[in-house]
Amino acid sequence: MSELTDLTLAEARDAVRAKKVSSVELTRAFTGAVEAARPLNAFVTETPERALEMAKASDARIAKGEGGLLEGLPLAIKDLFCTKGVRTTAGSNILSNFVPPYESTVSQNLWDAGAVMLGKTNMDEFAMGSSNETSHFGPVFNPWRSRSSNAKLVPGGSSGGSAAAVSGSLCLAATGTDTGGSIRQPAALSGIVGLKPTYGRCSRYGIVAFASSLDQAGPMTRTVRDAAILMRAMASVDPRDSTSVDVPVPDYEAGLDAGVKGLRVGIPKEYRIDGAPPEIDALWAEGVAWLKAQGAEIVDVSLPHTKYALPTYYIVAPAEASSNLARYDGVRFGRRAQGVRDIVDLYEKSRAEGFGREVQRRIMIGTYVLSSGYYDAYYIRAQKLRSLIARDFDEAYKKCDVLLAPATPCPAFAVGEKTADPVSMYLNDVFTVPVNLAGLPAIAVPAGLTKDGLPLGLQIIGKAFDEATVLRAGRAIEVAADFNAKPERWWRAA
Ligand code: GLN
Repeated sequence: MSELTDLTLAEARDAVRAKKVSSVELTRAFTGAVEAARPLNAFVTETPERALEMAKASDARIAKGEGGLLEGLPLAIKDLFCTKGVRTTAGSNILSNFVPPYESTVSQNLWDAGAVMLGKTNMDEFAMGSSNETSHFGPVFNPWRSRSSNAKLVPGGSSGGSAAAVSGSLCLAATGTDTGGSIRQPAALSGIVGLKPTYGRCSRYGIVAFASSLDQAGPMTRTVRDAAILMRAMASVDPRDSTSVDVPVPDYEAGLDAGVKGLRVGIPKEYRIDGAPPEIDALWAEGVAWLKAQGAEIVDVSLPHTKYALPTYYIVAPAEASSNLARYDGVRFGRRAQGVRDIVDLYEKSRAEGFGREVQRRIMIGTYVLSSGYYDAYYIRAQKLRSLIARDFDEAYKKCDVLLAPATPCPAFAVGEKTADPVSMYLNDVFTVPVNLAGLPAIAVPAGLTKDGLPLGLQIIGKAFDEATVLRAGRAIEVAADFNAKPERWWRAA
């Protein structure tokens, strides 16, 4: 545990502030770790020179007694956030040569706070996936392996590169985005913390759009405290995103250890699903016992429309995606097909070559549910269901302050295991999508290991803009679970 890369974000921050370690030293340790971890394929683009420059500038600020909340701390950025002058691919061939002329608001907030960029992390193409196998740049491998086999496992998706980078100690923390679970699900499968904030908490400006009414950026970290620190720096109201909301951003870290005494924790009965491995339910029951032992009041609640959440999501998200992805036409952005006959041929070939199979599937589903004749039957009904799902949460919150649920229906699975069957892949999102449809905040916290030694996560869901309570309850889970297992660094020998 003496390696610099094993520090948490909070520990590194304190060490840098106390001048026990310089940002350059810290950054060198991480650029080395990133390089040594290439077998994980967690990064699409490494930016070690830029990192070193940023670290030197940080050290200069620290020497002058200046410095922001994240001064000198090396982070990884999901390759969905536009970074000025640094290639941003969204995991897609169609953007494989796209160098943005501007910076996303969230990443700009991080640089303004003094953070250092190590590079851009691999992800499912346009954030569509639950295993990081749809990336044009190849799959990401989970740092964790099962005790019973050396098979390569998926890290979850779509923020799989960020999850692997945090879990494998290749960065202090990373950004992710969550449209239907893409922060929480990979966090759970990779044994780290992932927080999806309330819709509107972070600006979406400069984040490549998937489904605009669902997309939210959030922190992926090794501890709940680190998530609290990063969340504060990422959040802001932004005139360039009209859906960002002007509510004060509290010092989440300050309230973290206040405990859960008297907190009403709802247990949604619909999250008990047939066919889930018994370990998932057992961990959930353990979570209930932990919170109860710390003084929380446990209440049974019902979210009756939960079973409609997945079908609703897989209409709404593709519909918005089909519209958002219409801008990639080979003319204004990214890759352009060669040797074309005319403009229609250019559009068709550029899109056929540029988009992978899953993205094409979503565009076709989305276009279909929005087409005249089917719009009322699918899209309008999905919108109505979305309201009912959101209302379920409103009703539940009359009886409780947060909800406790599993984060995923299964632990990390083998690469290739679910790629042939999209529906089995979509089922990974069963516990995460309702939260996005309702726009609520939720955190996944590592809480235990399967008998094969793979991490499992629990999820705390909160009221809109109450990330503070979500983090506090997440911290209570973290304390009780005392999860400190780490993956063996097999990739260093690979
Ligand atoms: N797995 C979900 C999907 O493929 C969620 C993805 C996400 O949150 N970006 O749509």
